[in-house]
Amino acid sequence: MALVKSTAIVLHHRDQGETSKIVTLFTRQYGKISLIAKGARVIKSRYGGALEPFTHLDAVFYKKETRDLQFLSQVDIIHPFPVIRSQLGRIALASIPCEMVDRHEAVGHAAPELFTLLLETLTALNEGERGLRNVVRAFQVKFAALSGFRPQLAGCSVCGRENPPEQVVFEYETGGYRCAGCPSSSVAGFRLSGHGVEILRYVQNAPVRLAGRSLVGSELGRNLDECLMHFIGYHMENLHHLASVAYLQQLQSSIKIT
Ligand SMILES: [Zn+2]
Repeated sequence: MALVKSTAIVLHHRDQGETSKIVTLFTRQYGKISLIAKGARVIKSRYGGALEPFTHLDAVFYKKETRDLQFLSQVDIIHPFPVIRSQLGRIALASIPCEMVDRHEAVGHAAPELFTLLLETLTALNEGERGLRNVVRAFQVKFAALSGFRPQLAGCSVCGRENPPEQVVFEYETGGYRCAGCPSSSVAGFRLSGHGVEILRYVQNAPVRLAGRSLVGSELGRNLDECLMHFIGYHMENLHHLASVAYLQQLQSSIKIT
């Protein structure tokens, strides 16, 4: 059993017995790991608020390959992302990338590029002032690429035309699109506007922290979200239905989240 250290992001936690918590971390060095935090529920716990979701921290823990649950020894907060925590809309948005990572990543599988992407996404959701939905869309497009399903958005998959016309069909299988003028195909796809393709291109290529600069109207936004969730769910079945997406939709009926 080795004592190891890794920078990590808290995905979620739950109570364990009277005094402890089980916390799931996404660590840079060791991927997703569940740990028991002894005494985390007692008043004046040495963990304080460090184990709340989204927290970026350094974790020291006892790691044994043959064990599902590791033992947390110590944490030091690097960034608690207080702005995310102070607003329901931001909590709902930040929950989407965290749930995707939690559902998709295998325990103990290191994915440092995905860790960096998640950290950049939470940073942008904490610091950004607008266009926060596009920050999450940028995460989703880049997550798909890291998982081997990079959308092919440079041009129509049939004629190669680079400027998308008014209407296209985005095809889930290839992640490409075909223009309305090109022969239609029977593969599953989503009808999207040319502007929608441009937004997807932008969030695919821009750094996450700049994704919010491109603002999207509510109808196009709904289309993009539906298209992205279908595309991701088509290739990764465990991401077909996300509780965080359902929560965001519910929340949007009462507050405006852009
Ligand atoms: Zn075409």
